Amino acid sequence: MGLVFRKETHIKTFHNPLKNFEPEGQEVELRFDPLLDHFAVFNPALEDKARLFFGPQDWELVEKVAEATRENCFMCPPKVWEITPKYPEDFIPDGRLRRGECTLFPNLFPITPRHAVIAVGEAHFRRLEEFSPQLVADGLALGLEFLRLVAEEDPVMRFGTVCANFLPPAGASLVHPHFQVVAAKEAFPQLKRFLEASLNFYTEKGKNFWEELAAEEKEGPRFLGQKGRVTFMAAFAPLGGNEVIGVIEGARGLAEITQEDVLDLGRGISAVLKGYARLGYGTFNFTLFLPPLDERTGWFCPHIRLITRQNFYENYRTDDYFLQRQLGSELIITPPERVAEIIRPFFAQEEGNE
Ligand SMILES: [Zn+2]
Repeated sequence: MGLVFRKETHIKTFHNPLKNFEPEGQEVELRFDPLLDHFAVFNPALEDKARLFFGPQDWELVEKVAEATRENCFMCPPKVWEITPKYPEDFIPDGRLRRGECTLFPNLFPITPRHAVIAVGEAHFRRLEEFSPQLVADGLALGLEFLRLVAEEDPVMRFGTVCANFLPPAGASLVHPHFQVVAAKEAFPQLKRFLEASLNFYTEKGKNFWEELAAEEKEGPRFLGQKGRVTFMAAFAPLGGNEVIGVIEGARGLAEITQEDVLDLGRGISAVLKGYARLGYGTFNFTLFLPPLDERTGWFCPHIRLITRQNFYENYRTDDYFLQRQLGSELIITPPERVAEIIRPFFAQEEGNE
């Protein structure tokens, strides 16, 4: 039995003053997530109005902010190697971790017992098209290395993740590209939902939901591309704007994510960011969801989820309102199948360039 990708369409009528109060049918589509108790909403009529919600990114403004903050940026070399916080020697001998152009160091204001920042690249500012596969892979590799060290040092820190905020509308306080790594004793609420639902799915159906998802979406209308054993797809019922999921098939946890997987994640993420730029977005978040750090789980695959956020321009309106923050749903502006059509070519292109 396959996964259920359920959609419901509702049409209700009202009198539209823009059309001389003629009765008009308004269509709303609900898309139910195949795993979680979640639905996203889509109104085809909103697609045009979305231009008002989501103005284009003002790259001149971003560059102005970048210029104004360059001199005091602690993520720009050589400051990143000299004045950023350091871990104690018995935890990380050199105090910081380095790989390629990336440097990991402690967050000065941690929000979890272990919370690191990764400066991604030496350039103070870059556009979405400028996150190369190798750069992204180096940043992720540092994050995963850090989580392994965290789990070794203190086995009660069983949950951790690598995340990213890019530019202020996505929550970043600095324009210099960076990722973050957080680790805690408890699973973060959203991770807990994924873990519990995946385990229930496995108990009931005897199958790994994530492997089923990858298998069913492969070559379908939401499929983006395959990098090694990482399958990328647009989410059917997105949890955030233009959400893309990349599932590392066959990896049963942190211990089984190989260097090749990390490079494949980097390839996919790099292609997705180019696709987001083509869709007209200039900001993003991502999170890599992992099972308990010390476990090998047959019922869960590590996977990354990327979303777009509001563009950066003067007087932008936040994209998060009661629908997301308090009702836990999400608004679909562009249908996932259309998102996939736009991003898919970048998966093919990137392959050719290597
Ligand atoms: Zn910088």
